[in-house]
Amino acid sequence: MKTVAEQPSAIRSYYEGLAKGVFCAVTCKACGGYTFPPTGCCEHCGSWQVEPAELSGEATLLFATHNISPACHPRFEKIAPYVYGHLRLKEGPIVQAIVLGINANPHDLQQLFERGPVLAKAEMLQMDDLPVLAFRIAG
Ligand SMILES: [Zn+2]
Repeated sequence: MKTVAEQPSAIRSYYEGLAKGVFCAVTCKACGGYTFPPTGCCEHCGSWQVEPAELSGEATLLFATHNISPACHPRFEKIAPYVYGHLRLKEGPIVQAIVLGINANPHDLQQLFERGPVLAKAEMLQMDDLPVLAFRIAG
């Protein structure tokens, strides 16, 4: 088994995968749970016996809102105001991400709420120098 120092960086693997539209996680050999974004240990049981895994990118939107303050970093100003939310990945973890396919206004968010659970698919947004995880809701 490789030492922690010999293992590739989970963060580097995450961003290199995301830049190619691949959604990298880890799965636990002890409990089978998925950890996303990937880390060196399992978020469910704490085991260090994790291995790389690729997610489907399929998710269900649980919560959505939009920002009313300026974007948190200049790289996001070109898409502000934007919708973000919490999504449950098909593999289990819940993530917070930008939500695409809906306008950031109360009327459209109300219509989204009335649709109930909405399916979404992960995609990569290239924001200047950083690939960013986003989810596009199903039409
Ligand atoms: Zn585990």
